[in-house]
Amino acid sequence: MAFELPDLPYAHNALEPHIDARTMEIHHGQHHAGYTSKLNAAIEGTDLAGLSIEELIKNHSDNTAIRNNGGGYYNHNLFWKVMSPSGGGQPAGALADAINASFGTFDAFKEKFSSAAATRFGSGWAWLCVQENGTLEVCSTANQDNPLMPDAGCSGIPILGIDVWEHAYYLNYQNRRPDYIGAFYEVINWDEVAKNFGAAK
Ligand code: MN
Repeated sequence: MAFELPDLPYAHNALEPHIDARTMEIHHGQHHAGYTSKLNAAIEGTDLAGLSIEELIKNHSDNTAIRNNGGGYYNHNLFWKVMSPSGGGQPAGALADAINASFGTFDAFKEKFSSAAATRFGSGWAWLCVQENGTLEVCSTANQDNPLMPDAGCSGIPILGIDVWEHAYYLNYQNRRPDYIGAFYEVINWDEVAKNFGAAK
């Protein structure tokens, strides 16, 4: 069965003013759609057809088409869901406890995550990941790599990610990636991140 481009869980303009509607239209309707169709083309008629997206990126990232397009498919599926027009603020409950235990404070987490996103050279992602021992770590990956890939230089189960490809922010922020990163906190859907945390533990 072919992978399908998921609908956005909100309208294109719902994240404004933090992320503009035109960026969302192109990002979802062109970029994510492109990863999806190229992923399907790469697996069609091969032994890889029928594997889950997690299995593909965990076990077949040595295949460049799977790495780039499977990574792109998975990463954006997560990205749309960890944002919400009613997002922002701070996490609560077990996730807040884990952030405090791993980073000291929420602000210390923010500083580390922002720095990982800002210093990723070229295109890539910054992540908040759950490690095997249950602690949280921040890291970043290049291109459409993902911490689930064994050689991404970053490990764990990703529960929050920010896309720092220029296609994610250039129309509204041009070269000001740090401003985009700052705005991202206004739309983070902490309920969804907490759900991902619960599932990853
Ligand atoms: Mn993207």
